[in-house]
Amino acid sequence: MTPFPERAQVVIIGGGIVGCSTAYHLARLGWQDTVLLERAQLTSGSTFHAAGLVGQLRSSANITQLLGYSVDLYRTLEAETGLATGWKMNGGLRLACNQARWTEVRRQATTARSFGLEMHLLSPAEARDLWPPMKVGDLVGAAFLPTDGQANPSDITQSLARGARQAGAIIFEQVPVTAIEVQAGRVRAVRTWRGRIECEILINCAGQWAREVGQLAGVNVPLVSVQHQYLVTEPIPDLPRDLPTLRDPDRLIYFKEEVGALVMGGYEPNPIPWALDGIPEGFNLSLLDSNWEHFEPLMDQALERVPVLRDTGVRELINGPESFTPDGNFILGLAPELDNFFVGAGFNAFGIAAGGGAGMALAEWVVNGEPPFEIWPADIRRFDSPHADVRWVRQRTLEAYSRHYTMAWPFEEYTTGRPCRRSPLYATLREQGACFGEKLGWERPNWFAAEGEKAVDVYSFERQNWFEAVGREHRAARERVVIIDQSSFAKYLVEGRDAEEALDRICANDVSRPVGSLVYTQLLNSRGGIECDLTVARLARDRFYLVTGTGFATHDYDWIRRHIPADLQAGIVDVTTTGAVLSVMGPNSRKVLQALTSVDLADAAFPFASLREIELAGVTVKALRITYVGELGWELHLPVEGAGTVYDALLEAGQDLGISNAGYRAIESLRLEKGYRAWGADIGPDYTPLEAGLGWAVKLRSNRPFIGREALLAQREKPLARRLACFTVADPQVVLLGRETLYRDGRRAGWLSSAGWGYTVEQNIGYGYVRDPDGVDTAYLKAGHYELEVATERVPCKIHLAPLYDPQMKKIKC
Ligand SMILES: Cc1cc2nc3c(=O)[nH]c(=O)nc-3n(C[C@H](O)[C@H](O)[C@H](O)COP(=O)(O)OP(=O)(O)OC[C@H]3O[C@@H](n4cnc5c(N)ncnc54)[C@H](O)[C@@H]3O)c2cc1C
Repeated sequence: MTPFPERAQVVIIGGGIVGCSTAYHLARLGWQDTVLLERAQLTSGSTFHAAGLVGQLRSSANITQLLGYSVDLYRTLEAETGLATGWKMNGGLRLACNQARWTEVRRQATTARSFGLEMHLLSPAEARDLWPPMKVGDLVGAAFLPTDGQANPSDITQSLARGARQAGAIIFEQVPVTAIEVQAGRVRAVRTWRGRIECEILINCAGQWAREVGQLAGVNVPLVSVQHQYLVTEPIPDLPRDLPTLRDPDRLIYFKEEVGALVMGGYEPNPIPWALDGIPEGFNLSLLDSNWEHFEPLMDQALERVPVLRDTGVRELINGPESFTPDGNFILGLAPELDNFFVGAGFNAFGIAAGGGAGMALAEWVVNGEPPFEIWPADIRRFDSPHADVRWVRQRTLEAYSRHYTMAWPFEEYTTGRPCRRSPLYATLREQGACFGEKLGWERPNWFAAEGEKAVDVYSFERQNWFEAVGREHRAARERVVIIDQSSFAKYLVEGRDAEEALDRICANDVSRPVGSLVYTQLLNSRGGIECDLTVARLARDRFYLVTGTGFATHDYDWIRRHIPADLQAGIVDVTTTGAVLSVMGPNSRKVLQALTSVDLADAAFPFASLREIELAGVTVKALRITYVGELGWELHLPVEGAGTVYDALLEAGQDLGISNAGYRAIESLRLEKGYRAWGADIGPDYTPLEAGLGWAVKLRSNRPFIGREALLAQREKPLARRLACFTVADPQVVLLGRETLYRDGRRAGWLSSAGWGYTVEQNIGYGYVRDPDGVDTAYLKAGHYELEVATERVPCKIHLAPLYDPQMKKIKC
């Protein structure tokens, strides 16, 4: 018996593909003092019963890159470890049976091109040539990704485990972790029947057990188990051995060839959750009973697509539970609750495809303190309070599962678990025709229906039903005044004797300004990448009020908390739920507010980028003179109990000035025209302010140190390899959604990071980085001739280096 260590630098819990991949990559990075603990035997969780399809294309460039890494690894791993992975690059086919799906597939093909992944459109006949057993009478077309493939999940895992062992990692099977010792915000040790291991880092790769393992340390891992079935047929005579994997989303099914037989599975619209009261003890190398009744509708679909199945026996119907998450993406990263507890779990039935890349990203995160690239769609900090309630998580997760293969409509909203978090104005806005969207559990008005219109989204790839309504709100903001409920903004107080110094080190912009100042700033990582994008208002010498986007509540809080230097006296408190926010925006906003207060709101007394406390209708309000829509305006931050009163007073005062409600879709259109960047789309941890055109918001000229400064100074010495620019397409028939491929002088130069329609400039607007390793400067940007690929069709576009709309000049520069 291998002696059981008393301490290790890293302990990994879970010997599935993700745990083994993480151990392997840690070893490759030179971290050899790793112990992996598996409660039963390697692969005995979900990994051993995976079907083994390995697809790569996702809607995020970086997650696609991560899956591409898996493919590269599985292709070469055998040469390194001597154990085969069963990797077969037979490609992946995706079918489209109606026009809407065909549009989706064509948009996916363009996304693939944007991300540098090969994807070809095929006619039904060409698709059948690649997959002879299928009937194609109902097909509109298909797409083929030649570098997709399939692998043997258990073999890959064993191969990774061997690679990890060869580099010094120790793996113990039959050793469940039963307790985790936590002290002062850090994991100290894990306990098992074999003994206790002290560790510097703990990594939770426990698959569907990861939520329970997290609970041992007070960490929330929002995933639940859901049953997932696929069948394996008896061998089919003459079945080609090189069939690509096949996804038939309109029929909700997928196929893979396996030693002369077919594997066929799918995503039911009515998924069945599992282990509602916890995963039974000893559930390893185990499957659930086959549920034929539940599988039958998928089987019927499969018989239509592949008639030979009618004459083929079924060897088995595998029913395996797998962990799924509320948004269909996996969960990776440093848990916000503790300082040394990482998670890699919740793989939503693509853990084999993701395993290689996820292990790499997790290992780099552990070793370098930062992931190798932004992985925001999978970041554990994308969750918040609703995700702590397992019932809420289960409800939303089942919806996400049921939508796995349904059309991914632009602007589509989830419907379950709503309403959860409501602003005090929720009911009022609803009465006024609000159509709500949801972010992090918050109900937020997306747009307002007028009399006779229904406050319901009707999805399509064309202009959707709310297009005119949002146009009304947009124009009201440009020409009169709008009121927007932005209560869901995340808000923090940073306080303490050294609060100024702490923020000075964390913020790229200069926040050491007088009380009453407001500063727009980025918070950078050591590479100069933009981790947060927010405003800092100085309330007192030792008190700052920070406001950031709804979705970034956990992320930004976590970043700031971790980066307040330990030797400084300063702390952060989340005050999101104590305050409502009403934004009053538009040329008439001053008149509306001035009617309610005697405080002078004129420019001289209340300039841009400042805040004052004012009384409105008996409520004390923090008025922040700032805008994300490019108009004169104020954000009013006020106690929750005053929201209704202030809202009513504003509506009354603004009646003759044309005040009306506006929602988040109008904000999006307005900010696109004004050139404001959106975090998670146009900017993020991979992009620096210099590349994003935000150098003006960085205090590089001062000699004061801040995180990311050295990286920016170094970057400034060389030509930039990419720069964000604005692009317009005049044709209103074209619909830009983001991820369209950008061409400069006929060569692929990047893709759109965000896009939409500008109602004032009457153009499609998109932002995207123009890339060239030899350098991208203004002259280079201006000299190019640009086109965009939209759903595989090229359209001409114009580049702009200044905002399209400027309220000061009242001029449209388009
Ligand atoms: C029917 C089915 C088909 C699938 N098909 C595909 C596919 O075609 N392609 C694809 O990419 N993915 C597929 N998947 C998904 C894939 O199987 C999973 O995403 C992947 O295996 C997850 O790996 P993991 O390492 O996160 O979890 P697991 O493999 O479940 O590993 C977690 C390990 O942690 C161990 N553990 C738990 N608690 C403890 C503890 N306290 N102490 C020590 N050890 C512990 C468990 O025993 C387990 O071995 C499929 C899944 C199912 C169910």
